[in-house]
Amino acid sequence: MPEKILEVQNLKVCYETGRGCVKAVDDVSLTIFEGEAFCLVGETGCGKSTLALSIPRLLPPNSRVLDGRILFKGKDLLRVDDSELQRIRGKEMAIVFQNPMTSLNPAYRVGYQVAEVPVTHLGMSWDKALTSAVNQLSKVGIPDAGIRARDYPHVYSGGMKQRSMIAMMTTCKPSLLIADEPTTALDVTIQAQILKLLHSLRVEYGLTLLLITHNFGIVAEVCDRVGVMYSGKIVEVGEVTEIFDNPLHPYTRGLIECVASRRGSKARLNQIPGSLPNPLNLPSGCRFHPRCPYTTYLCMKEEPTMTEATSNHSVACHNYKAVG
Ligand code: SF4
Repeated sequence: MPEKILEVQNLKVCYETGRGCVKAVDDVSLTIFEGEAFCLVGETGCGKSTLALSIPRLLPPNSRVLDGRILFKGKDLLRVDDSELQRIRGKEMAIVFQNPMTSLNPAYRVGYQVAEVPVTHLGMSWDKALTSAVNQLSKVGIPDAGIRARDYPHVYSGGMKQRSMIAMMTTCKPSLLIADEPTTALDVTIQAQILKLLHSLRVEYGLTLLLITHNFGIVAEVCDRVGVMYSGKIVEVGEVTEIFDNPLHPYTRGLIECVASRRGSKARLNQIPGSLPNPLNLPSGCRFHPRCPYTTYLCMKEEPTMTEATSNHSVACHNYKAVG
């Protein structure tokens, strides 16, 4: 059995707004094992990026962690001091953000930005680090990396910028790579290339990958296990094949039915009626009940808790036996 690398326990995160405290992550628990690719999936606004950003403590200033623990290799990241956190970030854990256009610093050459990581975290000399940066850029598929490393980010395409970000974030071979919607801002062909790159680096470096996405199609291609988030809660967790073959939560089922099949069916794609609830005015009981075709009286009264349906599949739904 692989070791646990990351354990999120009962995490609660809110944002202070003019209209009150909005809970973006509400009592979320999650375990990720060494070497696996774990996907967190859900609609925009369900709290998955907030959960991802809270792991390396990169939440915006108007956020507040209300409760919980985030154990990375046994250390609670919410309680380590800043110097320890600085040591972990970049070296042991790295994050690739959604928008490569704004992730790189426009004032510095790409090679310099990649080289800065081993200089800072491994104490490498600049000469060695610049050579290593060229190698890393070449590894992630930047053509003529020796020449292109001297370019500024504005001359790179979106795909090259994201490849450079991945080069930067993997140059110290971190144990955990968090990728927050890494392909959302890219066109479809480049998306596929970036996913392939993440997979090959994961295999080569033995990385653990936490991938955040709203696209169930990506989940099938990349991940071993998947957690489905809805309105700040994780509602279903399981192995990817299990979730696709036998989704137990009506929301998961709806998301899977929204993915276009490659078999060329002319049938209309399904859609989940309604939208995410207002976090300042959440429905009673199960938060999905106004959109759920299986709603019963109990669903409106009582919030479902996570139940183990099988040894590798858990779900938070009162009626999962009727859904599956
Ligand atoms: Fe639907 Fe009820 Fe299950 Fe919620 S608990 S997902 S409303 S069946």
